[in-house]
Amino acid sequence: MHRLPLSPNTAEVPQDRQIATSFAYKLKAAGHVAYFAGGCVRDRLLGKEPKDYDIATSATPAQVTRLFPGSNEVGAHFGVVIAKDHGVMVEIATFRTDGSYKDGRRPEAVTFSTPEEDAQRRDFTINGLFEDPETGEVIDFTGGQADLEAGVLRAIGNPADRFAEDSLRLMRAVRFATTLGFEIEAGTWAAMQDHAAGLQRISPERIRDEFSRIIVLPARRRGLELLVDSGLIQYFLPEVLPLIGCDQPPEWHPEGDVYIHTRIMLEMLGDDASLELCLAVLLHDIAKPPTRTYDEEAGRIRFNGHDALGATMAEEILRRLKYPNHVIEDVAFMVSRHMQFMNVQQMRTSKLKRFMATPTFPQELELHRVDCASSNGFTDNLEYLIEKREEFAAEPLIPKPLVTGHDLIALGVPSGPRFSEILEAVQTEQLEGRLTEREQALEWVKGLVGAS
Ligand code: ATP
Ligand code: MG
Repeated sequence: MHRLPLSPNTAEVPQDRQIATSFAYKLKAAGHVAYFAGGCVRDRLLGKEPKDYDIATSATPAQVTRLFPGSNEVGAHFGVVIAKDHGVMVEIATFRTDGSYKDGRRPEAVTFSTPEEDAQRRDFTINGLFEDPETGEVIDFTGGQADLEAGVLRAIGNPADRFAEDSLRLMRAVRFATTLGFEIEAGTWAAMQDHAAGLQRISPERIRDEFSRIIVLPARRRGLELLVDSGLIQYFLPEVLPLIGCDQPPEWHPEGDVYIHTRIMLEMLGDDASLELCLAVLLHDIAKPPTRTYDEEAGRIRFNGHDALGATMAEEILRRLKYPNHVIEDVAFMVSRHMQFMNVQQMRTSKLKRFMATPTFPQELELHRVDCASSNGFTDNLEYLIEKREEFAAEPLIPKPLVTGHDLIALGVPSGPRFSEILEAVQTEQLEGRLTEREQALEWVKGLVGAS
């Protein structure tokens, strides 16, 4: 009798689970032990859709590749084979123990062994579970089921050793605690703090991937706090630390220092905020500490130029973490413009339309919303922009030009800086609504060229 409806033909079972199940059946039919392992078991017990499926098996990599012709053997020397069907990839790994870790990143060698030893080499108890795909039975050598029920993230075995072996586990611990809303068990937490410096051995790309997954989570505020309180952030984003205790004018920021302001903003963002927006919020005031001055005359703290310097710092930070250029550009741009939202009501229509026409504008509007909501509570600029967006909605913010470069050439305007200045001037008139027809615009340009 099957305890769960896991037959590969059951319609409501997601396709990747069906495929992983059929792979496990194939291994079993050939006389091997085959279990679902790790994250996919954890997620099923939590009622969540797993990101991917892993199978742990008694079959050797050679036996696995024979059973799954065309499977990818790239990881075979670590005992891992990737089998594919309908674009779904399943990692099939032979039960193993990891040899010693010399570099804090990967084992020197692996030895094929038993399911129990395979569970013990995994990172956290909740990730050490196996499931029999046929019966749905959970095989628990690590106490992971009790920790799942209690909402506890606990390293398997001696936490200090486990973080010393592989420093990426430090970031994974924060990610799992944040995604699942779990408490980190005291001994595990103490070991994380002790071994935080090990993060320096991990490549920026791997740190970035974990950090990105943390900062986009709905619970990103707690994620940031765990990174700060564990000491991890010091090794990849130390610029955040001076935000702590960086005090601000209370009339603008009754909530407190820049760190609390930033954390409230992260919390206020919608659950589906983009990576770029989350990073822009985190970094929008990153240059407040280095620009902070006290204006004796006005009797207040100032942060002149923190937007421009902040954009430069954001770019440096994200480049160091090897983010792709489009992410770096968008985030730096959003940081550079966040103060301009205070002036939108004074902008001429043409300037405002150009301001609103950038691809990042919707995200910047959200940044501005949480910037105000987390501090002074002002909503006038936000409401003004929402009204204007409606008012301008009937036609494109930047309409088709009335006059083109070809027209200027025909009018005998020589190439040079003046050329683009004229095009911009005519666009300004168009955006202001003062020029609406092509003939009228051509006349206007003729007047301008003649006068110059
Ligand atoms: P998700 O796929 O949602 O990120 P996951 O737990 O499935 O989470 P994977 O990276 O897919 O994580 O790894 C699958 C399993 O392999 C984990 O559940 C864990 O048992 C083991 N594992 C992965 N990375 C490590 C590591 N650095 N140290 C020890 N075990 C690990
Ligand atoms: Mg996984």
